[in-house]
Amino acid sequence: MLRDTYVEINLDHIAFNIKNIRATINDKTKIAAVIKANAYGHGAVEVAKCVMENGADLVAVATLTEALELRIHYADYDIFIMGYTPSIYLDVVARNDFIQCIFSLEQAIILSELGDTTGKPVRVHIKYDTGFNRLGFKDSPESIQCIQKIIQLKSLEVEGIFSHLALAGHEENQNQFNRLKQAIDQIENNTFKFKYKHICDSISAIDYPEFNLDMIRPGAIIYGMKSFRKNDIELKSTLSFKTKIYHLKEIDEGDGVSYNYKWKAKKQSKIATIPVGYSDGLPRSMTDVGMVTIHDVRVPIIGVICMDQCMVDVSELDEVAVGDDVVIYGDGTNNSITIEEASEIAGTNKNEILSRITRRTPRVYIEDGKVKKIVNYLLEG
Ligand SMILES: *Cc1c(COP(=O)(O)O)cnc(C)c1O
Repeated sequence: MLRDTYVEINLDHIAFNIKNIRATINDKTKIAAVIKANAYGHGAVEVAKCVMENGADLVAVATLTEALELRIHYADYDIFIMGYTPSIYLDVVARNDFIQCIFSLEQAIILSELGDTTGKPVRVHIKYDTGFNRLGFKDSPESIQCIQKIIQLKSLEVEGIFSHLALAGHEENQNQFNRLKQAIDQIENNTFKFKYKHICDSISAIDYPEFNLDMIRPGAIIYGMKSFRKNDIELKSTLSFKTKIYHLKEIDEGDGVSYNYKWKAKKQSKIATIPVGYSDGLPRSMTDVGMVTIHDVRVPIIGVICMDQCMVDVSELDEVAVGDDVVIYGDGTNNSITIEEASEIAGTNKNEILSRITRRTPRVYIEDGKVKKIVNYLLEG
């Protein structure tokens, strides 16, 4: 692996989670497994295969480059780009047979013309803004007219329409759902029906089964993250972040540690240096409040977290040595800090903690209890 700081990913647990999502929702509802942001830090290429073999119908990403990374490995997966792709790159969408989110007549025309050239209609999902105010056609009669024009275009396959919930509250969710339904009712007719209508992310897919429609777009729950407000399903933890002690030293009372001596020893202390810093994905905001687990004991991160390293106070550990294992985030067993706790400590959310683990950190994939594969991004290509 050439580095002691790594992320361990349990593919059996990802498989368990996607199977359980599949078992929980209606049989007819498709699952677009969201694997954007390098599958929330887990590695999109490996996760794509795992979810497609265990219940997902297609994979969804945010950007064209994320879609291209997957296409290199999977010639025949359906890959849905949920975000905006600038018009100058739409030829790449057509050539790679991606499913593209659109919300303008201009882009629909460009894609239809590209479909003419390649001889294969480009598949699109219309994004309809029901109140998130991020992307999508504004909820208006003009937009409905525009979408009616789009569905007439010859080399465009308008297979879906979707929206995204702000999850602002029960009433707001219901209101957004109703707006999508009303728009669909105005667009669909005897000759045209959307194959896939969808609005649910992880939380709403489970909390609002009545909103599932033809497709759901779960992300966080694939990775074992729960934020439900009403319902629940069993999910397993999928990722741990680990390293080893690189250096140990005794320091005296009054000695400072790290930049600006923001932390100073109140007594003689034993300090360990670990090779994980904010550029690996350990939030710098954990300075003063973060912890890691060594020999099943939580010890505090002390001083300012550096780019590549940080220091921990191991004074309370009797036996500690260079090379000892350190758990940065784990599944909660053996006193490890979960992603959920880490997010609270860092003052952010779970998805940010996961998706910010960078590509400098190798990914180690576990399947059937054994190491299946190691991905070291910096040594690839
Ligand atoms: C990220 C994303 C999702 C998945 O969200 P989770 O909360 O992780 O389930 C679904 N839909 C869209 C449009 C997204 O951008």
